Amino acid sequence: MTKKYLSIDTKLIHAGEPEPRILGAVSMPIFQSAMFEYGGEKSYDDLKYIRLNNTPNHAALHAKLAALENAEAALVTASGMAAISTALLAVLSQGDHLLAQDCLYGGTHDLITKDLPGLGISFDFIDGNAPGSWEKKLKPSTKAIYVETMTNPLIQVADLRAVVEFAKAHHLVSMIDNTFASPINFRPAEWGFDLSLHSCTKYLNGHSDIVAGAVIGKADLLEKTVHKLNHLGGSLDPHACFLLHRGMKTLAVRVRYQNESTLKIARFLESHPAVLKVNYPGLTSHPAHERARSLFEGFSGMLSFEVKGGVEAAERFMKKTTLPVIAPSLGGIETLLTRPATTSHAGLAPEERQRLGISDALIRMSVGIESPEDIIEDFEQALRG
Ligand code: PLP
Repeated sequence: MTKKYLSIDTKLIHAGEPEPRILGAVSMPIFQSAMFEYGGEKSYDDLKYIRLNNTPNHAALHAKLAALENAEAALVTASGMAAISTALLAVLSQGDHLLAQDCLYGGTHDLITKDLPGLGISFDFIDGNAPGSWEKKLKPSTKAIYVETMTNPLIQVADLRAVVEFAKAHHLVSMIDNTFASPINFRPAEWGFDLSLHSCTKYLNGHSDIVAGAVIGKADLLEKTVHKLNHLGGSLDPHACFLLHRGMKTLAVRVRYQNESTLKIARFLESHPAVLKVNYPGLTSHPAHERARSLFEGFSGMLSFEVKGGVEAAERFMKKTTLPVIAPSLGGIETLLTRPATTSHAGLAPEERQRLGISDALIRMSVGIESPEDIIEDFEQALRG
């Protein structure tokens, strides 16, 4: 029987680990074998084969991830987008309708607007802060509601309690991309969400060296998702499973440190005369600060801000910094800066970015585990102009 652990810190180290240890190995060995000897399995899905997501490396991760979010089941995938696309296709089929938050990660936005309609799946966008406006978008064919815990790049926090209530009242599957929060700051199953999705490329792995994803949630929905993944083929390779497994063990210490550092950096930026605006839910000036406080155990390592002087000043500032790496993506141990208009949100038309409040001068920051004092010192010199 799998042991139960109370705290997430202990689960990260011990939940899902093989019992007894494999030949005494303290860390999970890599089973780099495409297939395994036939052992009398009765169904295709039970044959041991990497694409069927059931090797020992997959099984250990599935148990650990489910334990972290106090959910019934979990599945790892080849990328965050594999998790999102496979889960959406497991929940929705031809003729179905989806309600989705209007400010989603660019890849998800493109999947919903460009790929789902070709499969006969329609959608409407909703404002995550206006639950009263959702009902009029509802159709008899609406099957699911999809949101993000914190939106990219403005770090907005939707009314997540209302999402769950609305889903329950209208028999919809509630789905949430929990990548930005990570299971340390928010555990969707505890709030009644049916499915939580992750790009494990970010905080869960934390070392910017693999691409991976996860679907975590209700066992019946996970069953459907694994069948879909078995057909679509987006399974995670055992070596990447091993790296994710190793990276995850330090999730709690990394994310709590990142929460603290980011608050210090956000406060510094907010008080600097060369800074126009800072978006961070940990600041009392953030419009959803109280909501974030009541939902999350930490405000994450993600913030965005604008310096005075527009795009040119933003570029000048970024070039003058010496510590952060100028690169897209997030959630790793190194601090990253990016201008979303040129990276994550380059695919949106300028008018669409403007409508969503994403200025071309906006800088997004993923805070790593360097000393926040060193980052602040570096920013101070870069902001001197
Ligand atoms: N969800 C969010 C919030 C993201 O930021 C990303 C990638 O940046 C993804 C999903 C997609 O993840 P992946 O690149 O691992 O496919």
